[in-house]
Amino acid sequence: MTASTNTATSGWPVSRVAKFDAMKEDESLEIPSYGIVIIGAGVSGLYQLYKSREIGVSALVLESGTDVGGTWYWNRYPGARFDSESYSYGYSFSQELLDEWDWQERFSAQPENLRYLQHVSNRFSLSEDIRFESIVTECIFDETCDEWEVHVEDGFRVRCRFLVTAIGILSKPLIPDFEGMDDFKGPSFHTARWPHDEVTFEGKRVGVIGTGATAVQLIQEVAKTSKQLTIFQRSPNWCAPLHNSPIESTEMADIRSRYDDIFERCRNSFSGFIHDSDRRRALEVSPEEREALYEELYASPGFGIWIGNFRDVLVDEQANATLTDFIAQKIRERVADPKLAEKLIPTDHGFGTRRVPMESGYYEVYNQENVLLVDLNETPIEKITTDGIQCSDREHPFDLIVYATGFDAVMGPFNSINFRGLNGRTLAGKWEAGPRTYLGLATAGFPNMFTLVGPHNASTFCNMPRCIEQNVEWVSTFIEQLFSSDIRRVDVEFEAEDDWTEHVHESAERMLFSKVDSWFMGVNKNIAGRDARTFMLYVGGLPRYTELCDEVARDSYRGFVTS
Ligand code: NAP
Repeated sequence: MTASTNTATSGWPVSRVAKFDAMKEDESLEIPSYGIVIIGAGVSGLYQLYKSREIGVSALVLESGTDVGGTWYWNRYPGARFDSESYSYGYSFSQELLDEWDWQERFSAQPENLRYLQHVSNRFSLSEDIRFESIVTECIFDETCDEWEVHVEDGFRVRCRFLVTAIGILSKPLIPDFEGMDDFKGPSFHTARWPHDEVTFEGKRVGVIGTGATAVQLIQEVAKTSKQLTIFQRSPNWCAPLHNSPIESTEMADIRSRYDDIFERCRNSFSGFIHDSDRRRALEVSPEEREALYEELYASPGFGIWIGNFRDVLVDEQANATLTDFIAQKIRERVADPKLAEKLIPTDHGFGTRRVPMESGYYEVYNQENVLLVDLNETPIEKITTDGIQCSDREHPFDLIVYATGFDAVMGPFNSINFRGLNGRTLAGKWEAGPRTYLGLATAGFPNMFTLVGPHNASTFCNMPRCIEQNVEWVSTFIEQLFSSDIRRVDVEFEAEDDWTEHVHESAERMLFSKVDSWFMGVNKNIAGRDARTFMLYVGGLPRYTELCDEVARDSYRGFVTS
């Protein structure tokens, strides 16, 4: 085992302990070379770096931002916060981390979440092996030596035996192509590219386009101080109360004493949350019993109303209708104007069949004098003007426009990088008709490449860090074995990939998600050709996914072919 600290050819310091494949320090080498290159320094990339060091493989992270944090670095809009209970979101791998970090709120806000990830990075000196402001443009597999060559926009290049993508699924923001966008004379930005300097709404006329989970969080904050807030809604979403609250020190001490149980509970729950479905079916209990659970969950913190509900509400349309009616009634009770309430109630999908935005007074915002809802189905946006937004009936003047228009989800981050595998084949080309993967972690024809939180992976429908830890640990154990067996190339068998892809589709078909257009289904109305439903996520549940991954590992990594 060698320990070293040096300065690589590009001038940033590198320190690591490398057992298998030390970074090549020869100054005469044109391109530095590592055991692993990780793309992204968010929750998954940071842990992959930590684990790479633990298994003794040299690793470098390439991160496009100026700091660690991923999602929590980019999404700085006011109101951004966890929908997961904070204490179930933090990493579980380090006792020291669990001991020293106190969560302040049940659903922690973005500034604290970013501080937490910075703390993790500092705690383990991770940034020493992270190259910031590094936008990866191209990754090419060199068949002559079984290495990836990774290209960064600024001209930097690096080679590695294994390439691990930790690029997230909601990291490529999408602003629709409205006519005249550049003409607007005030500031305008996407929520995921929020300025680092403070943005105030006080006394301003603000336009927000979109009503997804992001917009719902932001709107509640803008409504507090803006002179006029106008919300442009194309489709309403079913939202549910978050019920956030502070965590006092005595409660934090209690949580700390229960961490083992909390993480065990997450591991055994369908989607890695502390919530798991009620074993009863909505249609087998009396209407009073049904209503009682709905009321209890609506009054309880977090995602319980969505994923801790009767076991049939996300698979049976009739059962789902009982919950949908209940939530619709709640909206009617909370919005004073009955006509406005109806506009906020979705009619094209049932509750929970798309991602449920969590709210803290969202519906009450619409009772405020300074808030206006524009239904884009009645008066579509025609263009952005120098002064605001021109709809088919009138112009709305603004001081600030916010695009809360979502992401090119799942595929966007992968399509932003030119991945070239065997025979120069591109990943974008291979996945043109939808992703094909093995375990959502690898894809045939792209050897030595692992996709953390990739398509078809349980992480995409999960309390992310819980699934991320599973992904990273599985991949790291595999890489360690490959290094110790001196295996230079690992690829996926096409048959294994076909079977997994079919399994992903089968497990989705029984869920109501698959009957509705959403980013879960790869549908994006802003992108030409993205209107066919193809399931992007693995919805067989975390316990089943973990079991299947472990089974593959036990069976000598069945489905992978090595050379
Ligand atoms: P989103 O759910 O895709 O919502 C985008 C919104 O913009 C939708 O209301 C969409 O309307 C609207 N929109 C898009 N293009 C438009 C156009 N051309 N004209 C008018 N409206 C347009 O994106 P998001 O709200 O950013 O959320 C994405 C995901 O991020 C969520 O599903 C969630 O998984 C994650 N998220 C998580 C948290 C958290 O954990 N705390 C918070 C926020 C977001 P249509 O529906 O009609 O397309």
